[in-house]
Amino acid sequence: MSEITLHELEKQYGETTAVEDVSVEIEDGELLCLLGPSGSGKSTTLRMIAGLETPTGGEISIDGDDVTDDPAYERTTSTVFQDWALFPHKTVRENVEFGLKMRGVPADEREQRAESMLERVQMTGYGEDDPTNLSGGQKQRVALARSLAVNPDVLLLDEPLSNLDKRLREDMQIELREIHEDLDETFVHVTHDQDEAFTLADRIGIMDQGELVQIGDPDEVYENP
Ligand code: ADP
Ligand code: ADP
Repeated sequence: MSEITLHELEKQYGETTAVEDVSVEIEDGELLCLLGPSGSGKSTTLRMIAGLETPTGGEISIDGDDVTDDPAYERTTSTVFQDWALFPHKTVRENVEFGLKMRGVPADEREQRAESMLERVQMTGYGEDDPTNLSGGQKQRVALARSLAVNPDVLLLDEPLSNLDKRLREDMQIELREIHEDLDETFVHVTHDQDEAFTLADRIGIMDQGELVQIGDPDEVYENP
Protein backbone atom coordinates (compact mmCIF):
# COMPACT_ATOMS: atom_id res chain seq x y z
CA MET A 1 0.00 0.00 0.00
CA SER A 2 1.18 3.44 -0.84
CA GLU A 3 -0.11 6.94 -1.22
CA ILE A 4 0.77 8.99 -4.26
CA THR A 5 0.77 12.75 -4.49
CA LEU A 6 0.67 14.53 -7.83
CA HIS A 7 1.41 18.22 -7.49
CA GLU A 8 0.78 20.58 -10.41
CA LEU A 9 1.90 17.88 -12.82
CA GLU A 10 2.56 18.94 -16.39
CA LYS A 11 3.76 17.28 -19.58
CA GLN A 12 4.48 19.12 -22.80
CA TYR A 13 5.38 17.45 -26.09
CA GLY A 14 6.68 20.33 -28.18
CA GLU A 15 3.65 22.53 -28.74
CA THR A 16 1.22 19.97 -27.34
CA THR A 17 0.23 20.17 -23.70
CA ALA A 18 -0.67 16.56 -22.87
CA VAL A 19 -1.14 17.15 -19.12
CA GLU A 20 -1.64 20.45 -17.35
CA ASP A 21 -1.73 21.35 -13.66
CA VAL A 22 -2.89 17.96 -12.33
CA SER A 23 -2.90 17.81 -8.53
CA VAL A 24 -4.36 14.93 -6.56
CA GLU A 25 -3.68 12.86 -3.47
CA ILE A 26 -4.24 9.18 -4.19
CA GLU A 27 -4.89 7.45 -0.90
CA ASP A 28 -3.34 4.29 0.46
CA GLY A 29 -5.23 1.28 -0.87
CA GLU A 30 -7.72 3.17 -2.99
CA LEU A 31 -8.75 2.33 -6.54
CA LEU A 32 -8.74 5.56 -8.51
CA CYS A 33 -10.05 5.54 -12.08
CA LEU A 34 -8.92 8.25 -14.46
CA LEU A 35 -11.79 8.60 -16.91
CA GLY A 36 -11.90 10.73 -20.05
CA PRO A 37 -11.99 10.70 -23.84
CA SER A 38 -9.07 9.70 -26.02
CA GLY A 39 -6.32 12.33 -25.96
CA SER A 40 -7.34 13.79 -22.59
CA GLY A 41 -3.99 12.97 -20.95
CA LYS A 42 -4.89 9.87 -18.91
CA SER A 43 -2.19 7.63 -20.29
CA THR A 44 0.48 10.33 -20.06
CA THR A 45 -0.42 10.90 -16.40
CA LEU A 46 -0.17 7.17 -15.68
CA ARG A 47 3.13 6.87 -17.54
CA MET A 48 4.55 9.70 -15.44
CA ILE A 49 3.51 7.90 -12.24
CA ALA A 50 5.19 4.76 -13.63
CA GLY A 51 8.38 6.70 -14.44
CA LEU A 52 8.03 5.96 -18.16
CA GLU A 53 7.75 9.68 -18.96
CA THR A 54 9.45 12.58 -17.21
CA PRO A 55 7.18 15.48 -16.27
CA THR A 56 8.00 18.90 -17.71
CA GLY A 57 6.57 20.48 -14.56
CA GLY A 58 5.31 19.63 -11.10
CA GLU A 59 6.17 16.79 -8.72
CA ILE A 60 5.24 13.20 -7.97
CA SER A 61 5.78 11.66 -4.59
CA ILE A 62 5.13 8.14 -3.36
CA ASP A 63 4.80 7.74 0.41
CA GLY A 64 6.32 11.18 0.88
CA ASP A 65 9.42 10.50 -1.26
CA ASP A 66 9.87 12.75 -4.26
CA VAL A 67 10.21 10.32 -7.20
CA THR A 68 9.69 12.89 -9.98
CA ASP A 69 13.07 12.20 -11.56
CA ASP A 70 13.46 8.53 -10.62
CA PRO A 71 13.43 6.02 -13.46
CA ALA A 72 10.76 3.32 -13.62
CA TYR A 73 12.98 0.54 -12.27
CA GLU A 74 13.58 2.45 -9.05
CA ARG A 75 9.87 2.75 -8.30
CA THR A 76 7.58 0.38 -6.48
CA THR A 77 4.97 0.62 -9.22
CA SER A 78 4.00 -2.10 -11.69
CA THR A 79 2.05 -1.50 -14.89
CA VAL A 80 -0.49 -3.51 -16.92
CA PHE A 81 -0.94 -2.32 -20.49
CA GLN A 82 -3.79 -2.69 -22.95
CA ASP A 83 -1.88 -5.01 -25.26
CA TRP A 84 -0.73 -7.57 -22.66
CA ALA A 85 2.96 -7.52 -23.79
CA LEU A 86 3.71 -11.11 -22.68
CA PHE A 87 7.00 -12.71 -23.68
CA PRO A 88 6.09 -15.14 -26.48
CA HIS A 89 9.08 -17.48 -26.07
CA LYS A 90 8.49 -18.09 -22.38
CA THR A 91 5.86 -20.22 -20.69
CA VAL A 92 3.06 -18.65 -18.70
CA ARG A 93 4.92 -19.44 -15.48
CA GLU A 94 8.17 -17.94 -16.77
CA ASN A 95 6.26 -14.80 -17.69
CA VAL A 96 4.82 -14.49 -14.21
CA GLU A 97 8.21 -15.20 -12.62
CA PHE A 98 10.06 -12.70 -14.81
CA GLY A 99 10.06 -9.71 -12.44
CA LEU A 100 10.98 -11.96 -9.50
CA LYS A 101 13.91 -13.41 -11.41
CA MET A 102 15.12 -9.88 -12.18
CA ARG A 103 15.02 -9.19 -8.46
CA GLY A 104 17.04 -12.31 -7.64
CA VAL A 105 14.29 -14.26 -5.90
CA PRO A 106 15.31 -17.96 -5.58
CA ALA A 107 13.69 -20.48 -7.94
CA ASP A 108 11.53 -22.38 -5.44
CA GLU A 109 10.15 -19.17 -3.97
CA ARG A 110 9.49 -17.81 -7.49
CA GLU A 111 7.61 -20.92 -8.42
CA GLN A 112 5.46 -20.79 -5.31
CA ARG A 113 4.68 -17.14 -5.81
CA ALA A 114 3.86 -17.64 -9.51
CA GLU A 115 1.55 -20.51 -8.62
CA SER A 116 -0.29 -18.43 -6.07
CA MET A 117 -0.63 -15.47 -8.49
CA LEU A 118 -1.97 -17.76 -11.22
CA GLU A 119 -4.50 -19.08 -8.74
CA ARG A 120 -5.55 -15.55 -7.87
CA VAL A 121 -6.33 -14.74 -11.50
CA GLN A 122 -8.02 -18.13 -12.03
CA MET A 123 -5.28 -19.53 -14.26
CA THR A 124 -4.20 -22.52 -12.16
CA GLY A 125 -2.91 -25.30 -14.41
CA TYR A 126 -1.78 -23.03 -17.25
CA GLY A 127 1.80 -22.56 -15.99
CA GLU A 128 3.49 -24.64 -18.67
CA ASP A 129 1.37 -23.28 -21.54
CA ASP A 130 2.64 -21.13 -24.38
CA PRO A 131 1.02 -17.71 -23.86
CA THR A 132 0.53 -17.18 -27.59
CA ASN A 133 -2.11 -19.96 -27.50
CA LEU A 134 -4.22 -18.23 -24.84
CA SER A 135 -7.36 -16.17 -25.43
CA GLY A 136 -7.27 -12.39 -24.96
CA GLY A 137 -8.85 -12.61 -21.53
CA GLN A 138 -6.42 -15.31 -20.42
CA LYS A 139 -3.46 -13.29 -21.67
CA GLN A 140 -4.65 -10.31 -19.69
CA ARG A 141 -5.03 -12.47 -16.58
CA VAL A 142 -1.42 -13.62 -16.99
CA ALA A 143 -0.27 -10.01 -17.50
CA LEU A 144 -2.06 -9.10 -14.29
CA ALA A 145 -0.46 -12.02 -12.42
CA ARG A 146 2.96 -10.96 -13.70
CA SER A 147 2.44 -7.39 -12.47
CA LEU A 148 1.15 -8.51 -9.09
CA ALA A 149 3.90 -11.11 -8.56
CA VAL A 150 6.48 -8.49 -7.62
CA ASN A 151 4.20 -7.22 -4.88
CA PRO A 152 4.11 -3.61 -6.09
CA ASP A 153 3.04 -0.81 -3.77
CA VAL A 154 1.04 0.66 -6.63
CA LEU A 155 -0.56 -1.15 -9.56
CA LEU A 156 -1.06 1.02 -12.66
CA LEU A 157 -3.53 -0.18 -15.30
CA ASP A 158 -3.68 1.47 -18.72
CA GLU A 159 -6.93 0.45 -20.45
CA PRO A 160 -6.23 -3.18 -19.46
CA LEU A 161 -9.63 -4.46 -20.60
CA SER A 162 -10.18 -2.39 -23.74
CA ASN A 163 -9.16 -5.11 -26.18
CA LEU A 164 -11.60 -7.64 -24.72
CA ASP A 165 -15.14 -8.20 -25.91
CA LYS A 166 -17.97 -6.68 -23.89
CA ARG A 167 -19.04 -9.77 -21.97
CA LEU A 168 -15.52 -10.70 -20.92
CA ARG A 169 -14.75 -7.07 -20.08
CA GLU A 170 -17.67 -6.99 -17.66
CA ASP A 171 -16.57 -10.24 -16.00
CA MET A 172 -13.01 -8.99 -15.70
CA GLN A 173 -14.16 -5.70 -14.15
CA ILE A 174 -15.77 -7.64 -11.34
CA GLU A 175 -12.69 -9.84 -10.97
CA LEU A 176 -10.37 -6.83 -10.87
CA ARG A 177 -12.54 -5.27 -8.22
CA GLU A 178 -12.32 -8.47 -6.16
CA ILE A 179 -8.56 -8.69 -6.60
CA HIS A 180 -8.26 -5.11 -5.44
CA GLU A 181 -10.38 -5.77 -2.36
CA ASP A 182 -8.31 -8.86 -1.56
CA LEU A 183 -4.95 -7.18 -1.93
CA ASP A 184 -5.60 -3.82 -0.35
CA GLU A 185 -3.11 -2.22 -2.78
CA THR A 186 -3.31 1.20 -4.38
CA PHE A 187 -4.59 0.91 -7.98
CA VAL A 188 -4.68 3.68 -10.59
CA HIS A 189 -6.79 2.54 -13.53
CA VAL A 190 -7.11 4.45 -16.80
CA THR A 191 -10.20 4.00 -18.95
CA HIS A 192 -12.37 5.84 -21.47
CA ASP A 193 -15.30 3.57 -20.51
CA GLN A 194 -17.71 5.20 -18.10
CA ASP A 195 -19.38 1.94 -17.03
CA GLU A 196 -15.99 0.45 -16.25
CA ALA A 197 -15.03 3.40 -14.08
CA PHE A 198 -18.32 3.25 -12.18
CA THR A 199 -18.02 -0.51 -11.63
CA LEU A 200 -14.44 -0.39 -10.39
CA ALA A 201 -13.62 2.88 -8.74
CA ASP A 202 -13.50 4.06 -5.17
CA ARG A 203 -12.99 7.49 -6.71
CA ILE A 204 -13.20 8.75 -10.27
CA GLY A 205 -11.03 11.53 -11.67
CA ILE A 206 -12.40 13.02 -14.88
CA MET A 207 -9.81 14.23 -17.36
CA ASP A 208 -10.44 16.62 -20.22
CA GLN A 209 -7.86 18.23 -22.48
CA GLY A 210 -5.00 17.43 -20.13
CA GLU A 211 -6.68 18.70 -16.99
CA LEU A 212 -8.25 16.91 -14.06
CA VAL A 213 -11.60 18.67 -14.17
CA GLN A 214 -13.44 16.74 -11.47
CA ILE A 215 -12.72 14.15 -8.79
CA GLY A 216 -14.96 12.36 -6.33
CA ASP A 217 -16.85 9.21 -5.37
CA PRO A 218 -18.76 7.60 -8.23
CA ASP A 219 -22.00 8.95 -6.72
CA GLU A 220 -20.72 12.51 -6.53
CA VAL A 221 -19.38 12.41 -10.06
CA TYR A 222 -22.64 10.89 -11.30
CA GLU A 223 -24.81 13.53 -9.68
CA ASN A 224 -22.70 16.48 -10.82
CA PRO A 225 -21.63 15.61 -14.35
P1 ADP B 1 -5.32 9.51 -23.36
O1 ADP B 1 -4.55 8.48 -22.61
O2 ADP B 1 -6.35 10.20 -22.54
O3 ADP B 1 -5.86 9.00 -24.65
P2 ADP B 1 -2.73 10.62 -23.91
O4 ADP B 1 -2.12 10.88 -22.59
O5 ADP B 1 -2.32 9.40 -24.65
O6 ADP B 1 -4.31 10.67 -23.75
O7 ADP B 1 -2.44 11.87 -24.86
C1 ADP B 1 -2.68 13.21 -24.47
C2 ADP B 1 -2.21 14.12 -25.58
O8 ADP B 1 -0.79 14.07 -25.66
C3 ADP B 1 -2.72 13.76 -26.97
O9 ADP B 1 -2.92 14.97 -27.66
C4 ADP B 1 -1.58 12.96 -27.56
O10 ADP B 1 -1.56 13.04 -28.96
C5 ADP B 1 -0.38 13.67 -26.96
N1 ADP B 1 0.78 12.75 -26.80
C6 ADP B 1 0.83 11.66 -26.01
N2 ADP B 1 2.01 11.07 -26.09
C7 ADP B 1 2.74 11.82 -26.96
C8 ADP B 1 4.08 11.72 -27.47
N3 ADP B 1 4.89 10.73 -27.11
N4 ADP B 1 4.48 12.68 -28.33
C9 ADP B 1 3.65 13.66 -28.69
N5 ADP B 1 2.40 13.81 -28.26
C10 ADP B 1 1.94 12.91 -27.40
P1 ADP C 1 -3.10 5.90 -25.30
O1 ADP C 1 -4.33 6.73 -25.58
O2 ADP C 1 -3.40 4.63 -24.58
O3 ADP C 1 -1.98 6.69 -24.76
P2 ADP C 1 -2.06 6.29 -27.89
O4 ADP C 1 -2.35 5.52 -29.13
O5 ADP C 1 -2.54 7.68 -27.72
O6 ADP C 1 -2.60 5.39 -26.71
O7 ADP C 1 -0.49 6.30 -27.65
C1 ADP C 1 0.32 5.18 -27.86
C2 ADP C 1 1.78 5.61 -27.83
O8 ADP C 1 2.02 6.64 -28.79
C3 ADP C 1 2.22 6.19 -26.50
O9 ADP C 1 3.55 5.78 -26.24
C4 ADP C 1 2.17 7.69 -26.70
O10 ADP C 1 3.10 8.35 -25.87
C5 ADP C 1 2.51 7.82 -28.18
N1 ADP C 1 1.83 8.99 -28.80
C6 ADP C 1 0.54 9.35 -28.65
N2 ADP C 1 0.25 10.46 -29.33
C7 ADP C 1 1.39 10.81 -29.97
C8 ADP C 1 1.75 11.87 -30.85
N3 ADP C 1 0.88 12.83 -31.19
N4 ADP C 1 3.01 11.91 -31.30
C9 ADP C 1 3.89 10.97 -30.94
N5 ADP C 1 3.63 9.95 -30.11
C10 ADP C 1 2.39 9.86 -29.63
